[in-house]
Amino acid sequence: MDFHIRIRLQIWLRRSGLAVVLMVLVFVKSGGAAGKLFPNVIVFLVDDLGWQDTSVPFHSEITPLNRRYRTPHMEKLAATGMKFTQAYTSPVCTPTRVSLMTGLNAARHRVTNWTLRRNTSTDEPHPSLILPDWNVNGLSPKHGVERTVHAVALPALLRNSGYRTIHVGKAHFAANGTPGADPLNLGFDVNVAGHAAGAPGSYLGKASFSSGGADNIWNVPGLETYHGKDIFLSEALTIEANKAIDQAVKDSRPFFLYLAHYAVHTPFAVDERFYEAYQSMGLDKTEAMYAAMVEGVDKSLGDILANVERHGLSDRTVVLFLSDNGGLSAVARGGPAHTHNQPLSSGKGSAREGGLRVPMLIRWPGLTRPGAVCREAVIVEDLFPTILEIAGIKGFRQVGGGVDGVSLVPLLKQVSGYPAGRALFWHYPNHWGPTGPGIGPLSAIRHYDWKLIYYHADQHYELFHLGKDLGELNNLASTEPEVRKKLARRLRTYLIRVRAQMPMERATLNPVPWPD
Ligand code: CA
Repeated sequence: MDFHIRIRLQIWLRRSGLAVVLMVLVFVKSGGAAGKLFPNVIVFLVDDLGWQDTSVPFHSEITPLNRRYRTPHMEKLAATGMKFTQAYTSPVCTPTRVSLMTGLNAARHRVTNWTLRRNTSTDEPHPSLILPDWNVNGLSPKHGVERTVHAVALPALLRNSGYRTIHVGKAHFAANGTPGADPLNLGFDVNVAGHAAGAPGSYLGKASFSSGGADNIWNVPGLETYHGKDIFLSEALTIEANKAIDQAVKDSRPFFLYLAHYAVHTPFAVDERFYEAYQSMGLDKTEAMYAAMVEGVDKSLGDILANVERHGLSDRTVVLFLSDNGGLSAVARGGPAHTHNQPLSSGKGSAREGGLRVPMLIRWPGLTRPGAVCREAVIVEDLFPTILEIAGIKGFRQVGGGVDGVSLVPLLKQVSGYPAGRALFWHYPNHWGPTGPGIGPLSAIRHYDWKLIYYHADQHYELFHLGKDLGELNNLASTEPEVRKKLARRLRTYLIRVRAQMPMERATLNPVPWPD
């Protein structure tokens, strides 16, 4: 019911002595206090989308990559919301997703690498280090599941507050066969296509979204309606997400939609709707497939926002768009590179900017100024307290204490309140996949424009001034010893405080020393 009509009715009914009855009816119909007072929330998460893989410029200038990609709906979202030019995540999927769901930094939740099979590490053996027993089973809503972080997940809190909580797409929160692998166990009312795996068997409906191999762990669950049909996975997920929105509206429920696309992760396939245009630009097949998948995700964003508009809910819906890590630029296991992240260095899996810095846009109608740009450095666990604040949920304490994330609401409002001089931390005591600069095991800190990376294997440092050297070309660790030491001490204090896990040296069985 329209707010103003409701007020007028209340005035009329109060005169009639029936106001209390009406208020009770409104409360029940909306499913709780959140129904009328707090907005719908959409988290639109893209997998492996690089900082430059969009026509929205996140750098201070328009780059050749911005000219390559076509993302008109992201452009519209940026023009009507706030663009974050220094938004960070973890270097790989699961740590980012667990941080988003719990508000905890990866050093604390210990799901430091990506998950898949129960009690099985995805680390590759390291020549000189024994890697820690990290939480290979991921996030758990239950206490006592081995090698998991037990925490309350964001959708559980939103559901308690009256929201219809909808999961569509890639989950990748926990290992196969553990409770956290199923989004329904984490507080989602609806789950479409989410399970343990962090990639689809195939993007093609004609292939039933299946890898076709003996190992069915990658096969996307629950989209049988589309099997055998000529449809791309991103499109099927979008249709299902819009159906879930329609149902929430029909049921008069505020909704939290977490639409986490499998795209633009491997294994690539040709999306016929967009592929030809990029091939005509002269891109090689991998690059053209990738660019077409980026445009497919952008179309999905457009379709979701159009549906919200159709329901007349645009003014009451907050949209948060981001990627879960940098673009996969490193040549993994001999495969072709499909993106470059330039002018950033390296890519997914790395602690260089190309691995950590992602595109992020937030629109809160009536609150964010259209076309606003935020240059503060922020990190993915900040979305947890931000969304709780959007939903009016106060006083929550995470299992084991507080959360590491900081609410971005002051930044969205462009008022004071965001902590000045805040440091950001990364901890990746793991060794996996891509080669290139910034590869773990490592820990890192960013403070103001300085960034320090501490490499566990030989305990050397890289120190960069991102304000002058965004591409991280000039290591200043030896020429700026005071800065290096100050950041190393701050990193050390943080890692000790959150009880971060360090690898052991194979030769001595001693733990790798804290940074100093
Ligand atoms: Ca990812």
